[in-house]
Amino acid sequence: MELSVLWKLSYGMYAIGTLDGTRPTGCIVNTVAQITSTNPVIAVSMNKNNFTYEAIKKTGRFTVSILTEKTAPNVIAKLGFCSGRDTDKFDGKDFAWKALDGLPVVKDNCAGHLVAEVLSMTEVETHYIILARVKDAQPCTNFAPMTYKYYHEVIKGSAPKNAPTYQASAAQKTTSGSTTEKWVCSICGYVYEGDLTKEPADWVCPICKQPKSKFVKQ
Ligand code: FE
Repeated sequence: MELSVLWKLSYGMYAIGTLDGTRPTGCIVNTVAQITSTNPVIAVSMNKNNFTYEAIKKTGRFTVSILTEKTAPNVIAKLGFCSGRDTDKFDGKDFAWKALDGLPVVKDNCAGHLVAEVLSMTEVETHYIILARVKDAQPCTNFAPMTYKYYHEVIKGSAPKNAPTYQASAAQKTTSGSTTEKWVCSICGYVYEGDLTKEPADWVCPICKQPKSKFVKQ
């Protein structure tokens, strides 16, 4: 079986927002799908280890910010590569957010925002499938929605370990078979091609904003 075939499935990039009590929190997912057309229901896949899942379970509601090709990498870095357990992801330092129906959404450059109410949660091995009714849908911009393919190929981001599409050997595979010097971010898996030591001392990973010291030469 060649698991890389699964990479040919299409996905988007979405910021999920909810509340941990009164504190906004959230994460990045690539799997949000519309399941029914009338009075629409959506499905979201989320890792069991994800703090956002626990918050959604308690709050029963969440938002989906549909990210676009104009979305700042900071949004994905802050929401996708930190944990809401120990990080205040909506502290406003890395990206702007606003409240929609009392829940946090990414403010700038989204294609649209959804507010959803949980119908059911089904356990599937490492993940939960959350089925939720769409209660509100607001358009934002006409920028092209960011696909997972775009995120991989243009932004050169990788799948966080909690993503359903994460494959442990993926980073290694992409760094083999080439003579170009490569450095891999140990936090997010971003691959830098070239001599990283020539970058200035304050250079940071474009995805997760970690310093050069977090990079490992392949
Ligand atoms: Fe990184």
